[in-house]
Amino acid sequence: MAATILIVEDEPAIQELISYNLRNAGYAVLCAGSAEQAKDMVNDVLPDLVLLDWMLPNISGIEFARMLRQGIRTKMVPIIMLTARVEESDKVTGLEIGADDYIIKPFSPRELIARIKAVLRRRLPEASDELVEVGGLRLDPTTHRVTVNDLEDDSRSSEIALGPTEFRLLHFLMTHTERVHTRGQLLDRVWGDHVFVEDRTVDVHIRRLRRALEEAGKDELVQTVRGAGYRFSTRCEAGAE
Ligand code: CA
Repeated sequence: MAATILIVEDEPAIQELISYNLRNAGYAVLCAGSAEQAKDMVNDVLPDLVLLDWMLPNISGIEFARMLRQGIRTKMVPIIMLTARVEESDKVTGLEIGADDYIIKPFSPRELIARIKAVLRRRLPEASDELVEVGGLRLDPTTHRVTVNDLEDDSRSSEIALGPTEFRLLHFLMTHTERVHTRGQLLDRVWGDHVFVEDRTVDVHIRRLRRALEEAGKDELVQTVRGAGYRFSTRCEAGAE
């Protein structure tokens, strides 16, 4: 479940260097040499993060960032600006239009990856490789395993077998707990962009997820909120089933 990063950079050598380092760090990488090309790519696949060079031909990085922030589909995409500029006023401009971070060239690959990780952790916790532990469940994105970590009864299996969709669904829910998610929101965030499936699909997978959790006595963590959607909660509240 590697995060997809779109690099928008018109200098081929820099684009290649960044791309190489990001692939090595386990990311899926898309490259564009201009904002126009990036626009087409974003229309096809919404990336999890955009690394955006400030100085681009025709449409500048700042203009493109503004476009992304104005688009309904793209307004939430995390953006890190890359720039050779060092003036404080530019930094303010970059952050004002909604960039999440700002990196000044030249930068080391290690610094870049640390910044990317920090932004993804903050903005997109379900795309991070970090171990998640909530409500006695432990989910490890690197091994794709879910285990129960407060076993009192040895006869219960400690590993929970999940299909890929249920795994992604649980990962999303465990990184966004105590909040109600509508079926539409879950489709956007778990099934992804440009997927045209019915809301009922969500119910089917929630049911499968609950059935898998039931064996470990953890199905009550996934709650139905009538007329609203679903919630992952370690508390039992009125209105939940
Ligand atoms: Ca440039």
